[in-house]
Amino acid sequence: MEQPLPPPSDMSPAEFRKHGHAVIDWIADYLEKPDKWPVLPDVRPGEIRGALPQSPPLRGEPMEAILADFQTLIVPATTHWNHPGFMAYFANSATGAGILGEALTAALNVNAMLWRTSPAATELEQLTLDWLRQMLGLPSEFFGAIADTASSNTLYALAAAREMHPELRIREQGMAARDDLPPVLIFCSEEAHSSVDKAVMTLGFGLSALRKIPTDDGLRMDAKALAAAIERARRAGAIPLAVVATVGTTSTTAIDPVPAIADICAREKVWLHVDASYGGTAAILPEMRHVLDGCDRADSLVVNPHKWLFTPMDCSVLYTRRPDLLKRAFQHIPDYLVVSGSADVVNLMDYGIALGRRFRALKLWFVIRQFGVEGLASLIREHIRIADRLAEWIDADAEFERLTDGQFSTVVFRHHPAELAGNALNEHNARLLEKVNATGEVYLSHTRVRGNYALRLAIGNIHTTEVHVRRAFDLIKEAGGVHS
Ligand SMILES: *Cc1c(COP(=O)(O)O)cnc(C)c1O
Repeated sequence: MEQPLPPPSDMSPAEFRKHGHAVIDWIADYLEKPDKWPVLPDVRPGEIRGALPQSPPLRGEPMEAILADFQTLIVPATTHWNHPGFMAYFANSATGAGILGEALTAALNVNAMLWRTSPAATELEQLTLDWLRQMLGLPSEFFGAIADTASSNTLYALAAAREMHPELRIREQGMAARDDLPPVLIFCSEEAHSSVDKAVMTLGFGLSALRKIPTDDGLRMDAKALAAAIERARRAGAIPLAVVATVGTTSTTAIDPVPAIADICAREKVWLHVDASYGGTAAILPEMRHVLDGCDRADSLVVNPHKWLFTPMDCSVLYTRRPDLLKRAFQHIPDYLVVSGSADVVNLMDYGIALGRRFRALKLWFVIRQFGVEGLASLIREHIRIADRLAEWIDADAEFERLTDGQFSTVVFRHHPAELAGNALNEHNARLLEKVNATGEVYLSHTRVRGNYALRLAIGNIHTTEVHVRRAFDLIKEAGGVHS
């Protein structure tokens, strides 16, 4: 047996400076040429894990060796979201200002549970979210808080909605095995994000409490069908608790008719939560402000700066006009967290399930300051312009068709050779997508529009230009055997 070593100290400032500079140089090179690697790595499941030691090192290793493995083993096996050819799901961006903000967040290592444990983190979060609120044209009563993801925030909103009915005593008694509790229902459209289903499962409503409202020919929630469903629920003795409307659905970026839905919710005293995770940021553009029409009347709204606001993962914002109810859902203070003499401060631990909170506002504040509101608006405007160009190319080509008419930066379409229909057409497009993604130049995803397989191209990365999108369309044509 070797003698155990004395406890190590952290790396010296000189070492930190040396490796830190190397890391910054690597990041700068990466951001300069994000397309140096294929956007989708050519790896099989288990390959990365298998290439690494299966047990941890007993003795510390030099940073040089660790960073070398990062470069040779990790980077090539990464799906490169910062690649200009990344056009799948909702493409996003880690920008320079955001990356530097993240680094400083790690250095300060603040746990923003209480105001006292993080005065600057708490107040900067409130201030930055008030800036973003102004940028989106939302009302000044909206209180904002940052969480990891929209999925968490939608869950928090539905938990707050339950506290609109204190007589149900859900905070104290839960929902399980209660004869005295009528069915408590949540409504969303058939096109709503799966995070609504997950929130309903997790909060104990159960999936059977989720009513999926049909959509119109633009895949928008049918407000008349919503009103009828709420009325049916009341007649059956159920409590309609909340409606989740979507601004920019994940599949086709449809916008539910929020003004009509807000009328129904006001009349019926039902909580209105708006999921604007992707689409909401477009409201920064004066000419797109209308996408949030009616959202000033929402009880809560979620928008993700980590999606289309050039802020690194993760950063999702929940706004609510009822922070009191959000607190009633989540505030629970053990003795060791009681702070004397600070009753009127915001303690972020009161607004969600996590006690500890990262200082996520720093990177968002950096991004907003470094680009400015006009800079951010023109980036988003350019993405929408490129998406419109792609729509024009598709519309001008007899062999292609768009399956929906989006307003944002996402185009949903398919290759439709005259001789193909039904399942053969679906399979043709699925094969086409695989071929295109195998090039490593671009990465697109797919969706289903009323059962029809569709290609989905989402522009959201700061490096993506019209040239990249044109290249993607040409690759798609090639893969489809089009020679026009
Ligand atoms: C992406 C998306 C979500 C989920 O976002 P996360 O932050 O990953 O949880 C929810 N709703 C919509 C409409 C989305 O597009």
